[in-house]
Amino acid sequence: MNFECARCGYCCTFRVILTTEEINNIKKLNITDFFEKDQENNNIIKRKENGDCLFLERKNNKTLCKIYSSRPKPCRDYPPYPQNKPCREFNPLVRAYLYRIKINKK
Ligand code: SF4
Repeated sequence: MNFECARCGYCCTFRVILTTEEINNIKKLNITDFFEKDQENNNIIKRKENGDCLFLERKNNKTLCKIYSSRPKPCRDYPPYPQNKPCREFNPLVRAYLYRIKINKK
């Protein structure tokens, strides 16, 4: 895969469903109140008013994940498909991927 992250933060504006293990890993960082239920009863990372993930920091047009070493699997695996194009061109697939459906959690 030839992908170079531009650190634009685009992928960090999607909903990210957390597994119980991922929740516990983040709690080990002494972070609380970082997730909530979505309409399908999944645990998802809370987002800021602008839609950014709670853990995303934007500074000087670059981004930083505040829990980088403990970030959930969808974030680690991003982008989900082999590609040689900017990830923004893959919105539908990327969205479907990051918003993990229940089938994938079995
Ligand atoms: S946990 Fe980190 S990498 Fe994942 S969406 Fe939030 S800021 Fe981005």
